[in-house]
Amino acid sequence: ALPIIPIALLLFGLVGILLLTIPTQDVRDAPGFMYGIVLDAGSSHTSLYIYKWPADKQNGTGVVTELNECQVKGDGISSYMGQNGAAGRSLEACLDQAVKDIPKERHQYTPVYLGATAGMRLLNISNPEQSAQILEEVGQKIKSYPFNYRGATILSGQEEGAYGWVTVNYLLENFIKYGFVGRWLSPGRSTVGALDFGGASTQITFVSKETVEDIQDMMKLRLYGHEYFLYTHSFLCYGQDQLLKRLLAHIVKSQGYSQAVTHPCFPADHSKTLKMDNIFNSPCTVKDKPETYNPQSSLTLQGSGHYEHCIGNVTELFSFNSCPFSRCSFDKVFQPNITGSFMAFSAFFYIHSILQQITGVTVSTPQKLEEATKKLCSMKHSQLMTLAPNKKTRLPNLCACSVFIKTLMLKGYGFDDASFPRISFQKKAGDTSVGWALGYMLTLSNLLPAEIVEVRKTLTI
Ligand code: AMP
Repeated sequence: ALPIIPIALLLFGLVGILLLTIPTQDVRDAPGFMYGIVLDAGSSHTSLYIYKWPADKQNGTGVVTELNECQVKGDGISSYMGQNGAAGRSLEACLDQAVKDIPKERHQYTPVYLGATAGMRLLNISNPEQSAQILEEVGQKIKSYPFNYRGATILSGQEEGAYGWVTVNYLLENFIKYGFVGRWLSPGRSTVGALDFGGASTQITFVSKETVEDIQDMMKLRLYGHEYFLYTHSFLCYGQDQLLKRLLAHIVKSQGYSQAVTHPCFPADHSKTLKMDNIFNSPCTVKDKPETYNPQSSLTLQGSGHYEHCIGNVTELFSFNSCPFSRCSFDKVFQPNITGSFMAFSAFFYIHSILQQITGVTVSTPQKLEEATKKLCSMKHSQLMTLAPNKKTRLPNLCACSVFIKTLMLKGYGFDDASFPRISFQKKAGDTSVGWALGYMLTLSNLLPAEIVEVRKTLTI
């Protein structure tokens, strides 16, 4: 009979010795690059972002970058209400582009997410069935592509704020940094707050040591072994386009719903005729809506370029009285004191940059913001046209938009001489667009570990 037990022991021993002598090497999950897609379905339009990262460096920060972006033609998906299949079709050109941009062999491993924001939040209030139908349609359209479909959803305001903050701090490498000793290190840096001014809502998010008195505005994130306590608030109807509608509704109402209305924020040599429905078709203007009106009836707005009246009307869109907490920003919303540096993006960036371009004023302090806004609001439309002909369609509303950001940032959020200069107005960090999309993909694809990940060691045979 064979001595089975001693032979087995000998074999085990030999395999053990063999394994110990094989060198170890860092794990490389897959060679090459990984890709991910996010469709940012905003209120005014949809953008498709393609991200790329080296397959063997998933857990660091700053390693995921933007490969390409595609602007969907037309308005936001919520504008296709009642038009069967149109919202889905609008995405085709950009999805086709993504098919070309991402190597074919990676298509099936590429997650694709669609996140809709305040435009769809509003439609979900005014017409939940239509909102569900549009989400279903866009989901079906994305599923017809060879990618790994991971859902089409409406983000809450808190999520939108928090993912924007994640994007900013990821891109600035404020979470961890790859040290020269060859290890991921906590850089011990403060994080930067995020200010997002969209078409239908605006978000403010920052880390505060103060007690967040309203639990709704608090978010706890654990990233790379660190706990972050965020204050985040999203103001629905305080995005640029909805503010413009609300301003019109307020002006029209205060002038007795007359058909000829004076608009103090329009340049004095500008007038515009529009339909009542254009103003009162939104849940944001119900407060000022007349009890009965003909949606198709026209009204004409004649600009007066009156800075003080413009400020007065814009300020009335915010409520600065009665605060149920120890302190509020506006509209009875708790906000801790502003602290640290901030990055302001989306329409904050657009308005800040065009304001500087037209007035020649460097807007780096509250006084300069005031000076530039005043200068811009006194300009004629013809003057604006010579200074910024490429912004033609935006020019009539520029004074109102500048007054919005001034009122929101200084009177609303409370930025002052010390904190305003610490805001950096940015559209991109490196080649990557600043917005909630990257933070959303990083979080949903598990690219942001709760703990610092040491490089795993394994056997290579
Ligand atoms: P979004 O980031 O798409 O939600 O857009 C935010 C707001 O910025 C919307 O009110 C857009 O109409 C506005 N916007 C987009 N592009 C520009 C631009 N180039 N200049 C000024 N405003 C813009």
